[in-house]
Amino acid sequence: MSSAEWEDDDPFEEQRDKIENPMKRLFLAYGRDYLPQVSVGVFASVFARLLDLLPPLMLGIAIDAVFYEDALFSEQIPLVVLPDAWLPTGQTAQFWFTIGVIGAAFGIGAAFHWIRNWGFNAFAQNIQHDVRTDTYDKMQRLNMEFFSDKQTGEMMSILSNDVNRLERFLNDGMNSLFRLSVMVVGIGALLFWINWQLALVALLPVPIIGGFTYLFIKTIQPKYAEVRSSVGKMNSRLENNLGGIQVIKSSNTEPYESDRVDGVSMDYFDANWDAITTRIKFFPALRVLAGIGFVVTFVIGGLWVFQDTPPGPFTGELSVGMFVVFILYTQRFIWPMAQFGQIINMYQRARASSARIFGLMDEPSRLAEDPDAEELVVGDGDVAYDDVSFGYDEETIVEDVDLAVEGGETLALVGPTGAGKSTVLKLLLRMYDVDEGSIRIDGQDVRDVTLESLRRSIGYVGQSSYLFYGTVRENITYGTFEATDEEVREAAEAAEAHDFIENLPDGYDTMVGERGVKLSGGQRQRVTIARAVLKDPDILVLDEATSDVDTETEMLIQRSLDRLTTDRTTFAIAHRLSTIKDADAILVLEGGEVVERGSHAELLDDGGLYAHLWGVQAGEIDELPQEFIDRAQERTARLIADAESDDD
Ligand code: ADP
Repeated sequence: MSSAEWEDDDPFEEQRDKIENPMKRLFLAYGRDYLPQVSVGVFASVFARLLDLLPPLMLGIAIDAVFYEDALFSEQIPLVVLPDAWLPTGQTAQFWFTIGVIGAAFGIGAAFHWIRNWGFNAFAQNIQHDVRTDTYDKMQRLNMEFFSDKQTGEMMSILSNDVNRLERFLNDGMNSLFRLSVMVVGIGALLFWINWQLALVALLPVPIIGGFTYLFIKTIQPKYAEVRSSVGKMNSRLENNLGGIQVIKSSNTEPYESDRVDGVSMDYFDANWDAITTRIKFFPALRVLAGIGFVVTFVIGGLWVFQDTPPGPFTGELSVGMFVVFILYTQRFIWPMAQFGQIINMYQRARASSARIFGLMDEPSRLAEDPDAEELVVGDGDVAYDDVSFGYDEETIVEDVDLAVEGGETLALVGPTGAGKSTVLKLLLRMYDVDEGSIRIDGQDVRDVTLESLRRSIGYVGQSSYLFYGTVRENITYGTFEATDEEVREAAEAAEAHDFIENLPDGYDTMVGERGVKLSGGQRQRVTIARAVLKDPDILVLDEATSDVDTETEMLIQRSLDRLTTDRTTFAIAHRLSTIKDADAILVLEGGEVVERGSHAELLDDGGLYAHLWGVQAGEIDELPQEFIDRAQERTARLIADAESDDD
């Protein structure tokens, strides 16, 4: 695993650093359930590889027994573990026996290879599925602050790349590990058994190859990390540009952007080329090392067989057949050694990935649900905020907000952008918990009730009406899955959406959202309102539900909203004051504090911020008094300063 991967900007670092042995935890937490599959895989893998070792050995034995007639099968090295009585003695019989054993080894071996693949794949795929769904479940329960742009990218990467990497190790990596272990131990043992002296010669390059591979991995890893990092940068740039293509075209900055893409693509090229030049030297060098070992074994073994006396310091005998076995096995032995490096690499990547996965899983939720939480029971639907203060981080965003709405009434929140209106309502939905004070619905603190019952009781229509990929009907019934067609239609009618839906190519079954029919902002908004109508919540939160639409659509939406809000406790945030002037009470927020409250008429009489905003919007006065403009400018300057300090 590369150091760059650890240094990635990611939100789960703290939890991840506490995890000591992620792979052990992975096997204990997930592997255990699939022990039968992996056991079958390991057993079949070992057996299949042992069978693979048989043909070269049989060939060697056959050369001596059948072709040279030097020795009978039964006199050969006692590798053939069958009783002598079972072994054939005649030349032809021995020949056919050899072929029979080799054929059987291939046939049975193939069956075991199949079982091995089944076992490891079942093991890896099941764990991959379990880890992914568990991680996703956990992710959904994370606090809202994890869902800012940067971190969503990180979470996507955990859910896809990291989980896939685990699968790769659990399948390919473990599979290779057992295969190579059997090859190395099996061949090594056989060679020593046949002729320990020549085995020493044949295996001499092994430690050299091992060291060389280790060096190679050390060199290539930072280069791969560089490649990954430059891919990430390139993708971000491309994604950014595709998303902003309209701005690029309208600002005529195509050449500028082409240059920037050229730059990041070149960085990727350089990083990749650097890695490639290192990588392509490795295998030829390995070949040379292996080749030297092979030639030395061949020379010594050949002289031994050919001169009939052991060369140099060697003693004992070496038959032609056993010499062939040596040559065949040595060939097979070198490559697995080189592959160990790759397995170690895969293991390290899987280890880093599981640390990232468990880092996410261990992230404590600030919004822990009280284990004794009860169902929220809404009667009248009274809502009260008592001295509520809250900040996303250290800075207080909402300060000492006190408010009370009686069941069935509508409370409007107005005020400049950034005043904290949305934040106040997010606290009601318990997207975040208050830092001080409390929020109660019919006397029950929102922290004492289950999140499920709380959110079931509150309907939310926001400014960006997000539609999922699916049919219009699915989008309306989202969250109220059991609704009948009749109910869906009624909800759409109440939301003034029925007419346009009927005119879509497939009516309620038209696909919308990404890759589906593109609906206008106003249409999407009405589908979202229909969803809220169908849900029939006790409390309704409208967060600038009519922003971004033309006046005509706004009127349509307003009409549907009026119907929806009657007899329902409603919170409405609006910029266009005309849409909320009939609210039972209006709260004016500025800088996170309530600065004015009252009915439309009362606030106009007071002659404060609300009265001036109303004057400007109604065209009665041309502009706000200087003091309001000064305050707005101060706020803007502060926002810009904050944004700049965030960027640093
Ligand atoms: P309004 O709805 O009145 O426009 P918001 O409640 O959206 O205001 O925002 C109030 C302040 O809180 C703003 O300064 C905004 O930058 C900040 N803010 C909003 N959301 C977050 C967030 N997720 N993390 C940090 N700060 C936030």
